Amino acid sequence: MTYVVTENCIRCKYMDCVEVCPVDCFYVGANMLVIHPDECIDCGVCEPECPAEAIVPDSDDRAAPWMERNRTYAGEWPNITRKGTPPDDADEWKDKPNKVELFSADPGEP
Ligand code: SF4
Ligand code: SF4
Repeated sequence: MTYVVTENCIRCKYMDCVEVCPVDCFYVGANMLVIHPDECIDCGVCEPECPAEAIVPDSDDRAAPWMERNRTYAGEWPNITRKGTPPDDADEWKDKPNKVELFSADPGEP
């Protein structure tokens, strides 16, 4: 099992999750984070830390559409180990549905 970042993270990007991950397996894109599935040790501590409830175990139905994207972009985006400044409008995007079309493949700033 591994944990997966899903579309709730898009444009929220609070980054509370990176502070608690014991193996630093988060990678940062322009408007969301992903988890490297081969580095995640399935500890689960990040899941309750996410204000957007964007992190789910891969056994959750919400994970399926995002598993491949987490694997792909964890190999392309920079590693992030410290919480940065969330977007100014993060709270406005929290809980908004159907953000998948806003996904950006561009790398972010670690
Ligand atoms: S805490 Fe949640 S919303 Fe914030 S970056 Fe991590 S997964 Fe995304
Ligand atoms: S489950 Fe644990 S190891 Fe995996 S991303 Fe979350 S905090 Fe990191």
